[in-house]
Amino acid sequence: MAPALTIAKFGGTSVADYAAMQSCARIIAQQKDTRVVVVSASAGVTNYLVSLCHDELDAAGIAETVAGIKQIQYAIHECLPESVQRTEQLEKLLSELTLLAAQPSLRTNDMLKEQVLSMGERMSSLLFTDVLLEMGVAAEVFDVKQVLRTDDNFGAASPILPEIKRLAQVHLAPRLASHVQVTQGFVGADEQGRTTTLGRGGSDFTAALLAEALKAQLCQIWTDVIGVYTTDPRITAAARPLPELSFEEAAEMATFGAKVLHPATMEPALRQDIKVFVGSSKEPEKGGTIIVRDCQDEPPYRAITRRKEQVMVTVKTPKMMYAQGFLAKVFEIIAQHELSVDLVTTSEISVSFTLDNPPNSVAERLNRETITQLQDICEVTVERGFDLITVVGNNMQTSVGVSSKILSAVTDNQLRMICFGANPHNMSFLVKAQESDEIVQKLHRELFE
Ligand code: ADP
Ligand code: ASP
Ligand code: MG
Repeated sequence: MAPALTIAKFGGTSVADYAAMQSCARIIAQQKDTRVVVVSASAGVTNYLVSLCHDELDAAGIAETVAGIKQIQYAIHECLPESVQRTEQLEKLLSELTLLAAQPSLRTNDMLKEQVLSMGERMSSLLFTDVLLEMGVAAEVFDVKQVLRTDDNFGAASPILPEIKRLAQVHLAPRLASHVQVTQGFVGADEQGRTTTLGRGGSDFTAALLAEALKAQLCQIWTDVIGVYTTDPRITAAARPLPELSFEEAAEMATFGAKVLHPATMEPALRQDIKVFVGSSKEPEKGGTIIVRDCQDEPPYRAITRRKEQVMVTVKTPKMMYAQGFLAKVFEIIAQHELSVDLVTTSEISVSFTLDNPPNSVAERLNRETITQLQDICEVTVERGFDLITVVGNNMQTSVGVSSKILSAVTDNQLRMICFGANPHNMSFLVKAQESDEIVQKLHRELFE
């Protein structure tokens, strides 16, 4: 049998400063099976990097942004024992960043952007390794680009699994016995070795992919909450942590907006039957949520999630009645533009659908061209300003009274695109963005309090 192996991932707030990193290092020091550590950028750093890539900054703005990043990283560096090697490496990374940030083509060159975006994880992995060493854990930095092969869809790259598995066995597995490997979440490389990134929040996905590639039994996601809650605890203080969840429930929650897990995190776990633990790096003694294939209980309501900034498209044609192939044409146009349809509702002459954002991307992908092409075959209306609310549970479509109980909590609100029944695990609808906090609170009261 393969030796027990755990992959541990620490998110941005967990590696935000020296004290936070020390809490993480204490966790690793106590877990002999944890041989790979995936780190995010220190909190705030990726936002600064995104700003360098996307905002129109003048020279002073660029300098200020780079200074903000330097301040976060040096604050950690200076708490550590002096090391010429680390000082040199950090300075090298920061001068590389300074050079990239000053490139006039940065905002239009996707490849440069990826190099900039990867900087946060490169710096945090360097610093965290020394925090581990200081705590007596034999650790070294491992360059994730050696194994995390992706396509070249810059900004939202997709992993190439067979290659990741092969490369991990060649480059990563042999190193686990001697040192804990500290590597970068969120970052990958295409076939030509060019840097790519997996989309915002992608470090969870990195950890799960490495767990799959190395046949780990457990993937730990250490974050700033003591597990997955009944809903985002920032929306209601009544939210409570869930001790156990099934892969399917967690996947639904992640897909429908529970930020605590990147939407793709559960895919590798499902394929390889890897348990996923979610807990707080600041309060590891409080336990967390364990996500497994089969749960003891399967309640009809498990959690409520919210996904913001939904775009609803309605296509209408009087010819749709009896018109064969109309929907196929609509979806073909959507697919040509690499958009994917999320929710769908239909009537006799019209179809409404929402577009799935690429995982955690901030990019607006519904462009003029797509709309124009759709207008060639039908009337098109685009509406914005919605949030998508989803109740996640079990056997929902076959249990009596589930949908009416959910809807009875929101009788005073306008709901659009109610989707129910295609899947045992969810009921979703769009609501006006400005009402969504209140709606989640009302639903939470009705279903969980
Ligand atoms: P990290 O930087 O560790 O990856 P994230 O900010 O990405 O952390 O995810 C943790 C946050 O996810 C929490 O602080 C919480 O506000 C939010 N969140 C959203 N939905 C949930 C949920 N159902 N359970 C727990 N946290 C949630
Ligand atoms: N640092 C990246 C982000 O902020 C990836 C991650 O934290 O998971 O999105
Ligand atoms: Mg995250």
